[in-house]
Amino acid sequence: MNPRRRKKVVLLGSTGSIGRSTLEVARLLPERIELVGLAANGSVEALAAQVRETGVKHAALYDASRTAELRALVPDDVIIHAGPEGLSELAALDGADTVLVAIVGTAGLQPALAAIEAGKNLAVASKEILVMAGEIVTAAAARKGVTLLPVDSEHNAIFQCLDGHRGGEKEVSRLILTASGGPFRTWPADQLAGVTLAQALKHPTWEMGRKITIDSATLFNKGLEMIEARWLFGIGMERIDVVVHPQSIVHSMVEFIDGSVLAQLSKTDMCFPIQYALTWPERLAGGLQALDFAKLARLDFEEPRHADFPALGLAREAGLAGGTLPAVFNAANEVAVDAFIAGRIRFPEIWRVVGETMQAHELAAASSLEAVIAADAWARRAALAACHG
Ligand code: NDP
Repeated sequence: MNPRRRKKVVLLGSTGSIGRSTLEVARLLPERIELVGLAANGSVEALAAQVRETGVKHAALYDASRTAELRALVPDDVIIHAGPEGLSELAALDGADTVLVAIVGTAGLQPALAAIEAGKNLAVASKEILVMAGEIVTAAAARKGVTLLPVDSEHNAIFQCLDGHRGGEKEVSRLILTASGGPFRTWPADQLAGVTLAQALKHPTWEMGRKITIDSATLFNKGLEMIEARWLFGIGMERIDVVVHPQSIVHSMVEFIDGSVLAQLSKTDMCFPIQYALTWPERLAGGLQALDFAKLARLDFEEPRHADFPALGLAREAGLAGGTLPAVFNAANEVAVDAFIAGRIRFPEIWRVVGETMQAHELAAASSLEAVIAADAWARRAALAACHG
C-alpha cells in the first residue's frame, strides 16, 4: 500500500472517549485520514451527528432496536448495519484499510476478528479483547499478515520505542509500563474501603470512559495492560514491569540488554497515540503541541503498592498461567466494576471478587474461540456469585 495516500478508517466505538479523540485527529489531518464507517452501542443522536459531520456512508448500531431512530437522523444514502453482525460487517467494509476498535469491554472481539479476516490492519484501543483472546487475535493477524497497531498510550509508546529496532526481541530486556497510580496512590490502605464512586471516577491525569477510570483507580487497568503487552510484543510476562509515574508524561519505556532505556514522552492527550497508530509508519504534523520541558516541574517514579493494590499481582498470575485465566481475570473484573458502580460491593471487594473467581477456575487451553467464550461466561457467573457472597 502506498503510505502517502489517504487512509480509510472504520471506527468502532466512535461516541466514546477514544472515539471522539479519533474524530479530532481526523479533523486535524483531513488530507491523510478519511473515516468511512462509524459504530456505537445505542448513543443514536451522538452517532447521527458524527455521521453527518464526517459524511461516512456506513454506520452501525449494536442495539438493533434503535436503528429506526438513527435512520430518521442521517442522510438516506447512509447504509445502517445492525446488531453484533452489523458491527462485523462494518469491520470488514470493502475499501477500508484500518479498523480502530474502541468499544469498551469484549464486544469488540468478533468485529476485530472479522476485520483481520478481511485483511485490515487493526488499531486496538480495547485492551480487553487482547487480554481475553490474545493468542487467537495475534495468531489470526500473523496468518493474514496484518499489523496490530496499539492505541493504548503505554503500548503505543513501546511500539514507538521498538519501531526501527532491528535486533528483535532478544535485545530487549524489559518493557516498563508507567502507571499514574490513580486517585488513591497516596491513600492509607485502611481508607480504601470507604472510597465512593465519585472519588473513583476522578482520575488525576487522564479523562476517560467510566470503566477504564475505575480500572485505573484499582490498578486493574495496568494489570490488563501487562497482559496486553505480552501479546502485542511477544515478550514473556516475567519481563514486563510497572513503575508508578504520577505525572503521566513518560508513557512507557523499553530497557535493552546493553542497559539503555528508550522512553516516549508527550502531553496526556490520547490524540498522540491515536494519530501515530493511524499515520504509521509515517509521522505527520497534525497540530498537536509538543512538551515544553522548561515548564515541566518534575518527573517522579516510584514502586507500585503491590500489597494494598493487588491487581498487578493477580494480572501477573493470570499472564504467567496463560490459557483461559486471563479471560477469567478480565471478565471477573468487568462484573466487579459493574457491581461497584451499582453500589453492590465496596471498592476493595473488586480485588476480592477477581481473586476468588481466578482461584475457583479450572485452567484450560485458550487456542479456540469457543474455549475463551466459555471461560468468559463461566467467570461472569462465578464473579456475580462472589459479589453476593
Ligand atoms: P467509553 O465508555 O467512553 O466509550 C465506549 C464506546 O464503546 C462508546 O462509543 C459506546 O457506544 C461503545 N460501545 C459500548 N458497547 C458497545 C457495543 N456492544 N457495540 C458497539 N459499541 C459499543 O470508553 P473509552 O473510549 O474510554 O474506552 C474504549 C476502549 O478503549 C476501552 O477498552 C478502554 O480500555 C480503551 N482505552 C481507553 C482510553 C481512554 O483514554 N479513554 C485509553 C486507552 C485505552 P455508546 O456511546 O452508544 O454507548
